[in-house]
This record gives sequence, structure tokens and C-alpha cells, in this order.
Amino acid sequence: MARSSTPQVRKPPRGQAFTGRLLAWYARAARDLPWRRTRDPYRVLVSEVMLQQTQVSRVSEYYPRFLERFPDLESLARARPRAVREAWDGLGYYARARNLHSLAKLVARRHDATLPSEPAELIKLPGVGPYTAGAVASFAYEKPVPAVDTNAARVIRRVFFGNRDTGNGKRATEDVRRATRRLAAALVPKDGKRAWKFNQAIMELGALVCVARKPKCPECPVRTDCRTGRRLVRE
Ligand code: SF4
Repeated sequence: MARSSTPQVRKPPRGQAFTGRLLAWYARAARDLPWRRTRDPYRVLVSEVMLQQTQVSRVSEYYPRFLERFPDLESLARARPRAVREAWDGLGYYARARNLHSLAKLVARRHDATLPSEPAELIKLPGVGPYTAGAVASFAYEKPVPAVDTNAARVIRRVFFGNRDTGNGKRATEDVRRATRRLAAALVPKDGKRAWKFNQAIMELGALVCVARKPKCPECPVRTDCRTGRRLVRE
């Protein structure tokens, strides 16, 4: 039997309470973003690739336009490189568009134009790293797998490791990064729908409340579960 490359880690004692409070907050505070209304793997992938290095407000503008021009993976696979570049114009970091185009052609050819659902398969595709593989598996296929972007990693480190200094992730050592990924895998709910919400919620908390420079601890919904927040509010 194939073994997972991620060692099993037990959920930390505060994990259950943290998840409950996080999900309750998400239900009342989440932004209504277009890519959260779909489970279409191609559309989820396009949003994730756009969001890799571009702000949500800008992606919200370009995402519907790109999908109008290339509504599905086949249409993107058939497109000329120049047309893809034009549709991406203004988003920057064009390597993302090139990779997305290569990915579409490869998936059209080898996978019958259907994106794989397992992170281990997704990660083999051009431009897909561990985060994007987890995001597509969770947000499109509702697989109970973690999707740990910079925002989610920061929240996990602050809540469970009490490490404020690793706000932007650059100073996190490889050991800390590994421990973060393992903890994320332990925290993610086993039910796929709940895992979808958990992954969205933890990123949303990192984007809106547990921001890199000045976390808004006094108004944070998971403050009582957070090693960093409890300390900062006392100071
Ligand atoms: S209490 Fe502060 S440090 Fe902890 S998760 Fe919330 S905002 Fe981040």
C-alpha cells in the first residue's frame, strides 16, 4: 500500500476549539468571491494561478474576463500563445500564463481535458506547487487535504507555535515550514466539505485579520486559542 509522504501528526489539544471558532467566523465574515461559488476544477485552477502573485481586487477584475475568453480547459488548450498573453495582460508575472497554457495543453492531451483530483498528480503539472495542488484538490474536488499558502502558514505558526517573528514567512526555517505543513495536515477536517471551509477560512483569517505586519489580535475570533494573540493582547 502506498504510504503518505506526510507523517501523521496528532491534532493539537486546542485544534478542535480553534477550528470551531474559525469556521463560525468564516460563516459570518467571508468575502463573497467569484471563485468561491464554483467547484469547476478549471475555474478554481485559473483563480489560484492568478492569486499566486496578484491581489484579490485585481484578480476579481481579470478572472471573469479571462473566463469569458477561455471558458474551459479545451478552449485554453486550443488558444494561440499570443491570445493567452493578451488575456493575461495587466496581471503581470507572465510565466504563470505560459505555465497555465502548457498545463491546459498537457491535460487536454493526456487526461482527457479533466484535471486530476489528487495532489500527488496535480503537482506534476506545469506551474503547480504544493499549495496549488492542495487548493485544487480541496476547492474543486472537496478532498480533505490541506492547502497552505503564506496566509494560512502564518496563522498556524502564530496560533500554535507562538511565533510572531515569522509574520511574512521569509524567516521561517525549513524545520518550521515542515512542522507547519504537518500541523496543517493534522488540523484539516476529515470531511471534504468542512475541509473546503477550513482551508478557505484559515487563508481568509490570514488575509483580513492575522495580517503580516500588524495582526489585529483584539478583534480576532481565535484569540483565546492563539499563543501569540494571548501574549500580544496582554502587552
Ligand atoms: S490572535 Fe493575533 S496572532 Fe493570533 S491568529 Fe489572531 S490575529 Fe493572528
